[in-house]
Amino acid sequence: MKPKSQSPFLVNLHELPRRAGEMRPYRLDFKLEEAIGTPMLAIKTGESMLIEFKAESVSDGVLISGHVKSKAKGECGRCLDEIEWDVSEEFRELFLYESRKGEDEEDELFALDGDIADIETAIRDAVVLTMPINPLCKPDCKGLCSECGERWEKLAPDHTHEKIDPRWSGLAGWQPK
Ligand SMILES: [Zn+2]
Ligand SMILES: [Zn+2]
Repeated sequence: MKPKSQSPFLVNLHELPRRAGEMRPYRLDFKLEEAIGTPMLAIKTGESMLIEFKAESVSDGVLISGHVKSKAKGECGRCLDEIEWDVSEEFRELFLYESRKGEDEEDELFALDGDIADIETAIRDAVVLTMPINPLCKPDCKGLCSECGERWEKLAPDHTHEKIDPRWSGLAGWQPK
């Protein structure tokens, strides 16, 4: 983990007046230092991420809402082919003023630290929660033959593996005299 102050997800809201109704636009554009996703599909380290949002002063804190764009990579859950997934998600989170935050963990996570809002959790949640649990290269991917591991799409329609009935396997090498 990098020191907190270097996280690209930290937003300095210094320029936003703390009067309800005030609003400022922000834009973060950086290369990701730590992957975001699931074992099957993730925005990899080094991938670029664009976050455009507005910060709005409300009575208890700052409401941050916007859009995150990036590209995730992973593999198809059926045929294991590499897949790319366009990430384009909305997010919205209220960051409480320190003076307004309560005791629970959620408040801790989404509270301002002086002028700083850490939007990493909001972004991770927005991205991960919408990712498919079982990503596919295409909706009708036929997957792999369970016997030889070839992709069904490359195999002949009548592709089959001759199976010897286990009850007769003892006779497999038997030749009539
Ligand atoms: Zn597939
Ligand atoms: Zn096969």
